[in-house]
Amino acid sequence: MTADCLFCKMIAGEIQVPFAHQDEQLVVLKDINPQAPLHLLIIPRRHIATLNDLTPEDDGLVGSLFRAAATLAKQHGYDERGYRTVFNVNREAGQSVFHIHLHLLAGRGMGWPPG
Ligand code: AMP
Ligand code: ZN
Repeated sequence: MTADCLFCKMIAGEIQVPFAHQDEQLVVLKDINPQAPLHLLIIPRRHIATLNDLTPEDDGLVGSLFRAAATLAKQHGYDERGYRTVFNVNREAGQSVFHIHLHLLAGRGMGWPPG
């Protein structure tokens, strides 16, 4: 728990939010400002500020985040149609919450390259 971190406060229950899904390692939140018909944030319970802070011990955790994204995409019917997963890292990528979270976006055509 990092005191000034929005997602840590949600995970600790200091800020009450309904999770779309949760298990012992991660929670899933509907993005408050959705950029697609489905926009979920898959968030590890443990505070890690950016992808730059990952260690080899986190390999399993990161795998779990991606597997959760694939499961959720399938549950929402987007596994064949397609979806996008994104980690924004630091300023130029537009990271605004410094507790890693995997964006899952689906339900519309996605441009490439991303903006
Ligand atoms: P990023 O810009 O990659 O750090 O993503 C942070 C995301 O968190 C943005 O897409 C925000 O819309 C989202 N967000 C910020 N505050 C909340 C909140 N209270 N509940 C749900 N999503 C939030
Ligand atoms: Zn945190």
